[in-house]
Amino acid sequence: MRPFTYTRATDPSSATTALTANPTAKFLAGGTNLIDLMKEDVERPSALVDISGLNLTEIKPIAAGAAKGGMSIGGLGKNTEAANNPMIRQNYPLLTQAILAGASGQIRNMATNGGNLLQRTRCPYFYEVSMPCNKREPGSGCGAREGVNRLHAIFGWSESCVAVYPSDMAIALAALDAVVRVRNASGQERSIAFADFHRLPGDKPEQDTTLAHGELITAIDLPPNKFADRSYYLKVRDRASYAFALLSVAAGLEMAGSKIVQARIAMGGVAHKPWRALKAEQFLAGKEATEENFKRAADAEMAAAKPLEHNKFKVELGNRSIVLALQMAMNGGKA
Ligand code: SF4
Repeated sequence: MRPFTYTRATDPSSATTALTANPTAKFLAGGTNLIDLMKEDVERPSALVDISGLNLTEIKPIAAGAAKGGMSIGGLGKNTEAANNPMIRQNYPLLTQAILAGASGQIRNMATNGGNLLQRTRCPYFYEVSMPCNKREPGSGCGAREGVNRLHAIFGWSESCVAVYPSDMAIALAALDAVVRVRNASGQERSIAFADFHRLPGDKPEQDTTLAHGELITAIDLPPNKFADRSYYLKVRDRASYAFALLSVAAGLEMAGSKIVQARIAMGGVAHKPWRALKAEQFLAGKEATEENFKRAADAEMAAAKPLEHNKFKVELGNRSIVLALQMAMNGGKA
């Protein structure tokens, strides 16, 4: 690990000011990904600004604005607290399921909500500093493009990077149409629609998100929804616990009788960002909630997949996972 300075921020203003003043500084919150990356020499910050003591942990109802009637979770709240909050469990069980599907109890106790969104890809070439990787070292090439790419993307990849984004929590947040609230060193605040928060790689795979350097995630807003009792997070992985998703699906169905008013479907393990299955959603709007329609919706989405040499299985896996997640959501999470 390389030398770095450490300061402990006392409020959001001093934290964002310290980071903005140093282009190679990083915020330190739970540290569950950043410290690993520093030990592996992948991340090399010259300074860490510890924000773990800031009072941005509250979980509360939203009383006004576009998300009125929803819930807000603090950017520095712990994943465990968000997953286990009684109001989140009742109104956003999709989020609880997704958080509990990720990592381990110990890591969820340390990891923060904002930090979860900022975790970096688990592409093995990204972690191996002797290999080329445009995300770690822009312009060096992509080891995975012609290498072993079983874990990699089937949607939205570029010749520069074929990595996938690893968070489970964020896949549920994408389906929930969450909004990320941030502030900068000038005290200016802005809200970022979840679909716009993470990026596809394009020719700048080193940029995972649309956050500017120095912007601090203060909260994540969850708008109200009408599918809490018909939602499900399906995670498919190589082993039963403590593994990242080969592929995941967050599904919610708002119903009127036997007809689907609106479907929400987001996929993990398939792209550089949470992948909203808009073609499947469009197909299902106004349709009967039948297995046949679920299959046709999955076909509509997966027809555009572009698998790599070693991950062709993800197309069929994605197809079946969309159908199963929708069936589970329709049955209130029961098989
Ligand atoms: Fe790096 Fe992305 Fe290629 Fe992996 S897929 S080696 S993260 S550029």
